[in-house]
Amino acid sequence: MFNRLSEKLGDIAHKLRGSARISESDLDATLREMRMALLEADVALPVVRHLMEEVREQALGAEVARSLQPGQVIIKILHDVLADLLGGQRRDLDLSKIPSVILLCGLQGAGKTTTAGKLARLLVAQGKKVALTSVDATRPAAREQLQVLAGQVDVPYIAGVGQTAAAMARSAINEAGRSGCHVLILDTAGRQVVDDALMAEIREVAEAVKASERLLVLDSMTGQTALPIAEQFHAAVTMTGCILTKTDADVRGGAALSVARSTGVPVRYVGTGEKIEAFEVFDPRRMAGRILG
Ligand code: GDP
Repeated sequence: MFNRLSEKLGDIAHKLRGSARISESDLDATLREMRMALLEADVALPVVRHLMEEVREQALGAEVARSLQPGQVIIKILHDVLADLLGGQRRDLDLSKIPSVILLCGLQGAGKTTTAGKLARLLVAQGKKVALTSVDATRPAAREQLQVLAGQVDVPYIAGVGQTAAAMARSAINEAGRSGCHVLILDTAGRQVVDDALMAEIREVAEAVKASERLLVLDSMTGQTALPIAEQFHAAVTMTGCILTKTDADVRGGAALSVARSTGVPVRYVGTGEKIEAFEVFDPRRMAGRILG
């Protein structure tokens, strides 16, 4: 993820570090190069425009031309703007309630079920007592897949009972509370496309469970298509974060920047491979640093 962007911006940063003087036209040329790099990385145009305006405004304000290390000043500005765009300060999940419910939403194939297992594993490593449940009322195979994953990461799978997804969710939470779980990760049904039935069901589940965290699982390979998907889910259920999957296969990374900026929903984790341990906390500042090389 961000490999190509990192290569290009890294080159720009390298050139800047070596510059003793930077005129306003040098700054413009640098901004043009940055703009190209971001567009090639599949970052949405309005997001690129915003980023460039921010950098330019701050660079002029910082009187880059007259500063002793002008290149460093621009790099620092770019770093901060990128980090802000990616969500600013890293935020931990709010798991203060017992049990806390983490609701996972997303389209089928985005990697939701795999991510539920990965997140469970990570939280167990942090000392939490975690359980998994799927409220996919129509696809028993989806519930079975999660049950197998629960076995792999050694956490209980709770089978919620009820005719509707919301009823299943309520029953699973009661069970999680009875068995002393700290966290219940609740996987919802996915669909091929965003449709009204899916949204109505997710809204109903969200209202029934009062989830502490509502995380949207997005396939980073969908690039800019991720944007309308994220916007629709966010409109139905106010998301508290998003998890980008398959970042190992995505060399561009534009989706992460675009989604974070356009919806204001920060990326909290990234999936970095098919294996259960291929999962990382997303830290905007560290990522901005990595992109700039
Ligand atoms: P769901 O339909 O959203 O529940 O999706 P699944 O969890 O079944 O995942 C769909 C496919 O994506 C599976 O083949 C997963 O192994 C794969 N997958 C999930 N996350 C990642 C990831 O971070 N990287 C890669 N390379 N594959 C992933």
